[in-house]
Amino acid sequence: MNIVYLSSEAVPFAKTGGLADVCGTLPREVAALGHRCTVIIPAFRSVRRSGCAIETTDQSFAIPISSEKLVGGRLLKSHLPHSDVEVLMIDQPHYFDRPSLYGDATGDYPDNAERFTFFCRAALVALQRLGRNVDIVHCNDWQTGLIPGLIRANADRLSTLKDAATILTIHNMAYQGQFPAESFPMTGLKWSEFNHNTYEYYGYWNFLKAGVAMSDLVTTVSPRYAMEIQTPHHGCGLDGVIASRGGRVMGITNGIDTSVWNPSIDENLTERYDVDSWQKGKLANKRSLQAEFKLDVSDDIPMIGLVGRLADQKGWDLILPVIERHVSEGRPTQWMVLGSGDPRIESELKRLATDAPHQVAAHVGFNDSLAHRIEAGSDLFVMPSHYEPCGLNQLYSLRYGTVPVVTSTGGLADTVIDTTAESIAKKTATGFHLWENSPHGLDEAIGRALYLRYHEKKIWDELVRRGMGADWSWRKSASRYVSLYESAIALTE
Ligand code: ADP
Repeated sequence: MNIVYLSSEAVPFAKTGGLADVCGTLPREVAALGHRCTVIIPAFRSVRRSGCAIETTDQSFAIPISSEKLVGGRLLKSHLPHSDVEVLMIDQPHYFDRPSLYGDATGDYPDNAERFTFFCRAALVALQRLGRNVDIVHCNDWQTGLIPGLIRANADRLSTLKDAATILTIHNMAYQGQFPAESFPMTGLKWSEFNHNTYEYYGYWNFLKAGVAMSDLVTTVSPRYAMEIQTPHHGCGLDGVIASRGGRVMGITNGIDTSVWNPSIDENLTERYDVDSWQKGKLANKRSLQAEFKLDVSDDIPMIGLVGRLADQKGWDLILPVIERHVSEGRPTQWMVLGSGDPRIESELKRLATDAPHQVAAHVGFNDSLAHRIEAGSDLFVMPSHYEPCGLNQLYSLRYGTVPVVTSTGGLADTVIDTTAESIAKKTATGFHLWENSPHGLDEAIGRALYLRYHEKKIWDELVRRGMGADWSWRKSASRYVSLYESAIALTE
């Protein structure tokens, strides 16, 4: 099959979260199964800092954003590392050469509708220029949500795409790309195309809704989240639209890139380890973190790790009071936190680290190497998200022998098996679920985990080893996607 992935992010070129991990890895894995894969992303500023060779092509184009405004662009070319997957980049410096991808400290960039309409339209021109017939157009998140509708409306001009099946993968329902309806003409579509079965959502123009309504299949990144988004609680207003797609909605759990996230070859670590040497290896990594961040140096104090966006989704309203309580009660725990985002949460974390410098370390910023070292050096990894489409950090934690403590939602519920008398007996337990979504519930789940660590060393050892041995590689997920592509093609024939 000839498969094209469209996304605003792909590692190692541009990343704010898990979307980038998926779109930089899945195409490589699907290509390894014998398919031709191409990725198209915007040429953000970070692309040129990725360390990858970027080629300028002679392909340029101009998109009429309005009757008065023709916006030019150029196509750049690169490859996903260690593969022959071609990455095409839509270069338009005014739109994409900015300090960050979607916005700055004051909020989203005000021209995001225009930036991503341009991206979608330019990507289709680029695909037409390539001159290869495409079987699958795999769109990801709202930034690419216009693509299925644009292909339908322009089928007579897009000859290489006219038989393509379209798929939209939702990585997070909360980000929908909703804009005032007045800007819709930038799509080049007629107003008659703008209605409640397509782009319109309560008078606004909604990119994600358009993708859900008009793609041949809709997927999300875990089976549990695929069900949850059909309910008002997690559907973020689009639950009805998703449910209306019936059997065309499904969930495929993400994998992890085991060439990058693997403690036995990870060059970020002080000491590499595997399932047989985890105790010694993790201890060496813990000691380095303690020394680097001037925490109390002790083998016995459990280190609790957290890495993630500082956004309400990730449950900081549960985490911060629990850290506060541990500090004020002088509990024997250590906290190693890495995150960036909401300035309110950043300053709370910094305050906690200043108040208890030997117990709490907080690094505010994006630091990939430190994320690896936290996964390796921590005993527990805490991820009490209010919702979680899939989540990657709990999968990295399992792989690094760091027992995850998670809320029972979305991909967290699908990938971490709670430790109960039954799951211990069945030898399936891999972590701990919160039994109540509150600071108290988080503290209680951490307490259950620590009890086992100190008093049931044999069970703890089994838990760690089982997590490390579980196969969350992309290989499995990639073959599920290939079956999905085959059924999408069958549907459109
Ligand atoms: P989401 O996509 O909602 O942000 P995921 O758990 O699916 O959450 O993926 C987050 C990815 O981003 C992981 O690869 C994680 O290690 C990484 N990450 C998040 N915040 C940071 C940070 N501050 N520094 C380094 N890596 C980070």
